[in-house]
Amino acid sequence: MKVTICHLYPDLMNIYGDRGNIIALTRRAEWAGLEVAVRRVGLGERPDLRECDILFVGGGQDKEQALVAEDLAEVKARSLIDAVEDGLALLAVCGGYQLLGRYFKTGSGQVLPGIAVLDAWTVAGNKRCIGDVIVGCQLDGRPRTLVGFENHSGKTYLGHRSRPLGQVLFGHGNNSEDGSEGACYLNAFGTYLHGSLLPKNPWFTDYLLQKAIERRYGRAALLPPADDTVENLAHRAVIARIQRRGKMDTGVLRR
Ligand code: GLN
Repeated sequence: MKVTICHLYPDLMNIYGDRGNIIALTRRAEWAGLEVAVRRVGLGERPDLRECDILFVGGGQDKEQALVAEDLAEVKARSLIDAVEDGLALLAVCGGYQLLGRYFKTGSGQVLPGIAVLDAWTVAGNKRCIGDVIVGCQLDGRPRTLVGFENHSGKTYLGHRSRPLGQVLFGHGNNSEDGSEGACYLNAFGTYLHGSLLPKNPWFTDYLLQKAIERRYGRAALLPPADDTVENLAHRAVIARIQRRGKMDTGVLRR
């Protein structure tokens, strides 16, 4: 089996090590015996995104987001929306997540239009949400945790067409108010978790790979298992560090 990973705006949208997500997807796919190709897609390019298997876009600051918002709307929107409706596995982090929603209103009052793949909207708040995050989620029918790092001023709110990726167990998440983190629609996921996210959350890396091969090779196609011992040690180390600070419900590891 082969997977093609599309890294969208790799030069403009890549902060806090977001490129590590591409490395994690590539390595875990290779360890599972898959052939992997990574395609970098920048401003002005108009590929048919339905042809890729996983699409990733990272975070960026307001200046980069303004450039990307225009290109997304004018060059990539149709192809990206069609691909998501077709079941494309998509992961968008922070600034990329904000632009997949309806709009992002920046701190200076500028409204950057999004392409509304996710039913979400974002308004800059007056304090930054910074620090470690732990999220509880049930994507694959099992109780799971995601660990990461957030740094955003935007507060994101979800409409009824998107569900949260999970519930915040520690940190701020979408808006510091309603306990939600991230958004999902079909196999498209937006999240505030940098870190990079996927190296420390191998179950989520494999979940995205599984969705990608199901779409290309049919529902019976199974991702062969790959060793995740070291990755899970890193995952648990983040949770343990936060628990030592005595700030988190210690029941999370048993959930
Ligand atoms: N500019 C956005 C915010 O601060 C996104 C930042 C980021 O991607 N880390 O909300």
